Amino acid sequence: MIKIAIDAGHGLNTPGKRAPSGEREWMFNNKVALAVISRLHTFQNVQLLRLDDPTGTVDVELKTRTNRANAWRADVLISIHHNAYLGVWGPHGGIETYTLPGASQQSRDLAAVVQPLVVKAMGLCDRGNKTLNLHMLRESKMPAILIEGGFMDSTTDIVALLNEQKLKKQGEAIATGLAVYLNLKPKVDVSTAVIYKYGDTGPAIGTLQKNFNRLGYKLVVDQSFGPLVLAVVKDFQKHNGLAVDGYIGPLTQAKIKEKLELQKV
Ligand SMILES: [Zn+2]
Repeated sequence: MIKIAIDAGHGLNTPGKRAPSGEREWMFNNKVALAVISRLHTFQNVQLLRLDDPTGTVDVELKTRTNRANAWRADVLISIHHNAYLGVWGPHGGIETYTLPGASQQSRDLAAVVQPLVVKAMGLCDRGNKTLNLHMLRESKMPAILIEGGFMDSTTDIVALLNEQKLKKQGEAIATGLAVYLNLKPKVDVSTAVIYKYGDTGPAIGTLQKNFNRLGYKLVVDQSFGPLVLAVVKDFQKHNGLAVDGYIGPLTQAKIKEKLELQKV
């Protein structure tokens, strides 16, 4: 079981933590956290612990947050924030993912996976991976990152922050990053599972051939699952930690989707 601690920064009524137009930082953080949680529930063997007050009423002390994550023995911790520069509207903006100075390689790997995915999801500037001595990163005993998913006092970023779909995408991007980093396997719904196999034909096979080509293979898009497709499927499975059975089932489909998502970055 993989344990993931999720922290939406601050509380609803924390003084100062708001956009010049009055929106509270926690509201943004919470929406992203909810999307992270909802996406992570689609993976197998995941346990989640939320470190902030999910109602926003209490701004849970930072020490309480890290103590809980440590006592629970979380495998990883993510803290979700949104930035402010001077608290007045300005042209600055962008996404940053923080690790502790001198952080473990695992923390840095996780940050490196998550940052570009969040940039892509929000469509904002990439300010890169940064280090800072922050409580949530310093006092947690597991790999930990803190994401600043845009500036609340940026005239460009606020447009994305007020877009519910973008915040949802940001959360899904963070979850995708966690899934890649932790090698999570999607849950399989057998009632709706479609499995493509040798001998199948049709538009769906054409789409699969195009997708494999986007991943670097060179298949003729003839909508037919022949021996060359079979060889590609097995090669793909072999290089992605999947059972090499030549069937394109839900796990192989999910891995193709994940690879395509990563490639878009
Ligand atoms: Zn914050």
